[in-house]
Amino acid sequence: MEQDYIVERLQTPVRYNCDVLVCGGGTAGVAAALAAARNHADTILIERNGYLGGSLVNGAGPLHSFFNLYKAFEHTEKKQVVEGIPQEIIERLMGENGSFGHMEQDKGGNYDSAITLIDWEIFKDVIFEMMEEAGVKMVLHTELVSVIKEEDRVTGVIIEGKSGREAVRAKVVIDTTGDGDVAALAGAGFVKRQDTTSAGMPFGMADVDMKRLTAWLKEKNLINQLIEGNKGCEDDNVIRLGFELKKVPEFTEFMDQNGMWGPLGFSYHRNNFTYINAANLKNVDAADTEALSKAEITLRHQAMTLAKMLKQYIPGFEHAYVNWTPAKIGVRLTRIIDCEYDLKIEEIVNGTRFEDEVFLYGFHDCAPRIMIKDGGFYGFPYRALVPKRIDGLLAAGRCVTSTWEAHMSTRNTVSCMAQGQAAGTAAALCAAEENIPRSLNVKILQETLKQQGVILE
Ligand SMILES: Cc1cc2nc3c(=O)[nH]c(=O)nc-3n(C[C@H](O)[C@H](O)[C@H](O)COP(=O)(O)OP(=O)(O)OC[C@H]3O[C@@H](n4cnc5c(N)ncnc54)[C@H](O)[C@@H]3O)c2cc1C
Repeated sequence: MEQDYIVERLQTPVRYNCDVLVCGGGTAGVAAALAAARNHADTILIERNGYLGGSLVNGAGPLHSFFNLYKAFEHTEKKQVVEGIPQEIIERLMGENGSFGHMEQDKGGNYDSAITLIDWEIFKDVIFEMMEEAGVKMVLHTELVSVIKEEDRVTGVIIEGKSGREAVRAKVVIDTTGDGDVAALAGAGFVKRQDTTSAGMPFGMADVDMKRLTAWLKEKNLINQLIEGNKGCEDDNVIRLGFELKKVPEFTEFMDQNGMWGPLGFSYHRNNFTYINAANLKNVDAADTEALSKAEITLRHQAMTLAKMLKQYIPGFEHAYVNWTPAKIGVRLTRIIDCEYDLKIEEIVNGTRFEDEVFLYGFHDCAPRIMIKDGGFYGFPYRALVPKRIDGLLAAGRCVTSTWEAHMSTRNTVSCMAQGQAAGTAAALCAAEENIPRSLNVKILQETLKQQGVILE
C-alpha cells in the first residue's frame, strides 16, 4: 500500500538560546550537563521524563565499574580507574544514604571486583540538586523531535512539550539520547543493532526473607555473586545476590524459552529484593515504535510470571510481592552513531591506550568469559565521541561503539558517565572558543579533565 502523507506548515518560536544543549538526561547526559555548566557554558538539558538518570533508574541498579578486575588475577593490584564527576555523584549519594559506596564482591569478583549500588529514589533528588548548583537549566517532560541545521552543522533542535512546539539554538549539541536520535535526525550515519541482550525488564520485590533465600541458595550451591555486609539492620545482611535460577528444574524451560539469565540483583533495604534482573528479550528494534510497544508488553508479562514462580517455588519469597517495575523497559542497543573512531574489542581486551584518550575503563560485562588483559584497563579516545561528517555535535553513552562485544564494555553506566563528562567538557571548550568538536585541541581537553578529577594515568 502506498504511504499516505499530510503536509504541515510550521512556524516555530525560538524559546531558548544556549552554549551547550544536552539532549537526553541518562547517565551520559547528566554528567555531560554538569561538566559543560561547570566549565562556564550556558547549558540546557532536555529530557522526556520528569526525572533524570535514564536506564540507570529504570533498571541498571549496580554501577559497573569504577575499578579494574583486580580480583580475577592473583598479582593485579586494585586500581580505581574512574573518578571525576561519576565519583562525585557517588559521594553525594553516600552523604544522603543513597549509596553504600564501592563494595568488594565476596563471590563473583571475577565478573566485577567492586560494584557500586545506589538507591535511585535518592539519586533522582540528589541529581536535581547537583544540576541546580551547577546552573544547568533542566527542561523536563520534553521530547526532542527535530534538528536545526546550517549545511552540515547542527545549530539547535526542535522540542515538543506541554508548551507546544519550540526551538532551541545552541553552539554545540550533545546527543545523549541513548538511541542516537539527534544524530539520526541530523543525517549522521548510524547502524541499528539489536543482538541477544537488546532489552530487559528488572523488577523489585518486597517482603522477601533475604536470609532464608540466601541460606537455601547456599545449600543448593546456586550463588554466583554475593556481598554480605551491614545495610543498617540486624536480621538481614544480604546486599548483592546473583544466582543460577535456571538450574532449578521448575525454571529451566521457562527461562531457556525466553532467553533469560541470572537473576543478578541486589537488596538495598531490609527484606527488599530491590533489583531482580533476569527478564530479557533479544532482537528488539527499540527505535521502531511498534516493536518497542510489543517488547514492553512481552517483557512485563515475562517479569510478572517470573515473580509469581519465585513466590511459588523458592524459599524466602513466600510472602513477597512486586513493589517496583521500571517506568519502561530497559533498552541496551538501538542506533549506534558512526563516529570518527570505533573502539574494537581487541583494543579493549588488550588494554590499548590512545593519544586522545579522555578516560580509562576496566570493566567488561561478559567477564570472566571476556576480560581485559591482566585485569588492566583501556583508554577511551575522544574521536569515538565525534560523529563523522556532521559538525556542532558530540555523542556519548550507549549510542557509540558499533560491535556488540565492544559495546558490552562501553555501554555500562560508569563508562557512560565518564563519556558524558568528556563530551560536556569538550562542548564547553568549543563554545567558549567558537570552535567545532572535530577541531578541538585534545591536549587542552585532557588537561581540563585531569584538573577536574579524571584519571588519565
Ligand atoms: C535491563 C538493563 C540492565 C542493565 N544493567 C546494568 C548494570 O547492572 N550495570 C551497568 O553499569 N549498566 C547496566 N545497564 C546498561 C546501562 O544502564 C546503560 O547502557 C546506560 O545507563 C545508558 O546510559 P545513556 O545515558 O547512554 O542512555 P539512557 O540511559 O538510555 O538515557 C537516555 C536518556 O535520553 C532520554 N531521551 C531519549 N530520547 C529522547 C528524546 N527524543 N527526547 C527527549 N529525551 C530523550 C531518555 O528518556 C533517557 O533519559 C543495563 C541496561 C539495561 C537496559
